Amino acid sequence: GVIWFDGKMVPWRDATTHVLTHTLHYGMGVFEGLRAYQTNKGPAIFRLVEHTDRLFNSAHIFRMAIPFDKATLMQAQKEVVKQNHLESGYIRPIIFYGAEAMGLSAKNLSVHVAIAAWPWGTYLGPDSLENGIRVKTSSFSRHHVNINMCRAKSAATYTNSILAHQEVALDGYHEALLLDVDGYIAEGSGENIFIIKQGKLYTPDLTSCLEGITRNSVIELAQEMNIPIIEKRITRDEVYCADEAFFTGTAAEVTPIRELDNRIIGNGKRGPITQQLQALFFDCVSGKATH
Ligand code: PLP
Repeated sequence: GVIWFDGKMVPWRDATTHVLTHTLHYGMGVFEGLRAYQTNKGPAIFRLVEHTDRLFNSAHIFRMAIPFDKATLMQAQKEVVKQNHLESGYIRPIIFYGAEAMGLSAKNLSVHVAIAAWPWGTYLGPDSLENGIRVKTSSFSRHHVNINMCRAKSAATYTNSILAHQEVALDGYHEALLLDVDGYIAEGSGENIFIIKQGKLYTPDLTSCLEGITRNSVIELAQEMNIPIIEKRITRDEVYCADEAFFTGTAAEVTPIRELDNRIIGNGKRGPITQQLQALFFDCVSGKATH
């Protein structure tokens, strides 16, 4: 396969960087995750504009100047899918600093861009979309640089997500739920969370979770279904007592949650509204619906 690297398409094995790459040491780097889906017009990248905008916003928040414009990087993402002959798959653009200098005060570092893509199936297990997953609240929370950085998708915020995921995966759960510093639910390690109670859809407001592009798509779909949507702080017991719950994310798509902290949610199966939103979502990504 090939990877787009600083303006050129290079063989996969040659897309390498030096061990003194600044971002490798301090985590000052930003990235995106997108999916391309099979449509009747060939592979189509879902929400390419929104993901590219978020990439530039993340870089802006981190004061990294991307040396390419949006149009170039959008074209590059399409080219990577095409040149790797993918019908569908995952796309990973990353922006990182070069190896010119070490230390936290390093200035004038070069900024690099790489875009890779590969085939990727269901993220949280083969039957997760249908049967839902078991989730546990992690002792690792969304905090420090995470909080109030809802619009940045950065390497720096992922150590906590990985620690949380590892912690619960070792106990046999599919995914972790992270709380914010005040103890309200924030998000999964790489997903936004929604609950349904008495026909209304609830999701945490953007104080402690990434502004997920799948989250925004699901909100739009729910609006079209005339489901009331409430963005507010949500407590753990509200999730325990919800009728339905699900995660959203580029990787996780729309994944039902059947259990949180060993409390069954609803009847422990994918709920009817979740199922409807999931079906609409898959119609949307595959170009069968025009959203
Ligand atoms: N929250 C976190 C921490 C994530 O890493 C992701 C994944 O990208 C999401 C939420 C979901 O965002 P999106 O739907 O844009 O993929």
